[in-house]
Parts: sequence; structure tokens; C-alpha cells
Amino acid sequence: VTILAIESSCDETSVAVVRNGDTVLSNVVASQIKSHMRFGGVVPEVASRHHVEQITQVIEAAMDEANLTFAAIDAIAVTEGPGLVGSLLIGVSAAKALAFAHRKPLIPVNHIAGHIYANQLVEPLQFPLLALVVSGGHTELVYMEKDGSFDIIGETRDDAAGEAYDKIGRVLGLPYPGGKKMDEMAHEGKETLHFPRAMIQEDNYDFSFSGLKSSVINTVHNARQKGDDIDPYDLAASFQASVIEVLVHKTLRAAKEKNVRQLLLAGGVAANRGLREVLSAKMAQELPDVAVLIPPLSLCGDNAAMIGAAAYSEYRKQNFAGYDLNAHPGLVLGE
Ligand code: ATP
Ligand code: MG
Ligand code: FE
Repeated sequence: VTILAIESSCDETSVAVVRNGDTVLSNVVASQIKSHMRFGGVVPEVASRHHVEQITQVIEAAMDEANLTFAAIDAIAVTEGPGLVGSLLIGVSAAKALAFAHRKPLIPVNHIAGHIYANQLVEPLQFPLLALVVSGGHTELVYMEKDGSFDIIGETRDDAAGEAYDKIGRVLGLPYPGGKKMDEMAHEGKETLHFPRAMIQEDNYDFSFSGLKSSVINTVHNARQKGDDIDPYDLAASFQASVIEVLVHKTLRAAKEKNVRQLLLAGGVAANRGLREVLSAKMAQELPDVAVLIPPLSLCGDNAAMIGAAAYSEYRKQNFAGYDLNAHPGLVLGE
């Protein structure tokens, strides 16, 4: 089964061709980051405009790279949500047009399910599994008893992990999005400051990063006011240590309680070197029988290959949409 998948939920226009949910024939990603950098964040109106300008070429590039014609495509998949409504609508409209013109079934996919299924491009998924989803808009622990079943057992009560990275990066004057740069800086710094580990001892699987974010930003402002020097590398290292400790602690507790076969890391922040290292090491130490899956860096951020991987499960269940498919900006996993 060969699926052409489209992803346009935020600021990357991406189209991929994926076979049987596990083999990537092409995965073209056109990033708009440069256009949003000067605003310090994604400007929705600018994002939609870029998607409109890019989508046709990106579809053609993905088909060329896969070296296929539409006769060889079995279905068209698209991210229906969550994301920016104007951005999502470009992908949804393009997918509907392709499905109609080429008489192919249309498969709506949840973007977060896509982040989780990116791991299926690495190794077959084995259930039950637990996924730690850490991205620009989400921080969730998702329990999957079987393929296609999603149970959010914990989530952030305020900021997503990636959002905290980006907001602190902005205060430090780093270009948007600051997450990647902060990760690099953290590796050059030392944990000289102690920031709170919010909710770490609470008997639930929820997170909170807003207090940590404020605490780090206040530390920067206070130092600047007093004219003190603050080492941004040490700051990044101290912040990152707090984020990782909380994420890893709660993830391990959930993995133990749920008795899972696999632990998956997913979302843009899954690219974080510290998180990848600490999570793998702790899992090997405390739960050596649970396989840890982590996508390669190219599949952590937004891309359409992950949408094609998730779409394969929907294809087998014949979960197809009509031409009245709409964008769902607030779509929640499993609902
Ligand atoms: P969502 O997936 O929740 O809808 P999104 O699609 O905007 O949101 P992603 O593209 O999945 O988010 O992830 C982007 C986020 O990942 C940004 O916040 C970015 O700073 C963060 N990020 C990327 N690389 C790293 C890294 N190495 N360390 C920490 N954060 C990172
Ligand atoms: Mg993005
Ligand atoms: Fe994403």
C-alpha cells in the first residue's frame, strides 16, 4: 500500500510517499523558519501564504523523488489537526483536490499520532506501548493498548516543553525557534543554578513548565538589572536538567505502572540530545526489557513521512473521509 501524505499544520510544508507504513520513498520538507525568524515566532497569516506558494511544488518534488505516478498511489493522507487553521486548510484542500482528481481514498490524520508513528519508520511498533510526546505545542504521555488506540494519561497543565525552550531562547536573544540552540548550549554549560522540578513528586502523569520558564526568565532579568554576569551556557544547562529530570521521572513511572513493551519518544523536542541520552540510559538501567524507540533527527520535527506512517493504520481500517473533510485546529488525540 503506497500512500501520499501531506503535512501543513504549522510552518513546514511537507509531502511524503510512504509504503506499508514503514518505508519512506520520499519525504520533502520545505521549512518557512527563515520567514518567521524576524518576528520571533510563527505568524499564522505568513505561514498560510507560504503553504499556498509551496504546496504544488512540494507535491511534485515528492512524487519525482519517489519516482512514481499517481497510478501507483493507493490513498492520499493529510493532517487534519491540531495546528493553525489557515495552515491546515491548505494541506486539506490540496489533499481533497488530489483525491478527487485521481479517484483515491482520502485519509485524515492527527498530527500528534503522526509524531508517534514516526517511530514505525524505525522499527515495528509493539503494544502495549507508552509514548512521550514532546513538541512545540504538546507535552503528553500517551498509552496505546493497541494500534490506533490513544489514551492520554498525563499532559502539561500550561506550557509545552518546546514552548518553554523557545520562550527562554527569545529572552536570551537566540533566533527562533531557540530549542535546538539551547540544547547545544546546555552541553557546553554546567548545572550551576537550581530550578524547580514542578509536579515531580505528584501522584499523576501531568507536567507544568510555565513556573520553570518564569523562574529562568526572572533569573536573567534580575541579573541584567543588577548588572551581574550570567553565563547563558550554564543557564541553558540548568534549565535543561530540570526539564529532562521531570520528563524522564514521570515517563519511567508510567512505563513501570503500565507494563509496556515499548517506550517511544516523539515530537520536535525528541531531537534534544540530553533527553535522548538520559531517557535511554535510565530505561536501560531500570527497565532493560522495554525497547526504547527514538526517531532519527530528520523525523522528530514536522514532516509528512510520519503522517504517511500513521495513515497506514487508518487505511487498513478503511477510515476514509469524504470531500467535506475540514481542518480541526483543536483536534485531540483519541477523540
Ligand atoms: P505540535 O507538534 O505540538 O503541534 P509543532 O509541530 O510546532 O507543535 P514540532 O515541530 O513538533 O512542534 O517541534 C518544534 C519544537 O521542537 C520547537 O519548540 C523547537 O524549539 C523544539 N526543538 C527542536 N529541536 C530541539 C532540541 N534539540 N532541543 C529542544 N527543543 C527542540
Ligand atoms: Mg515547525
Ligand atoms: Fe509537530
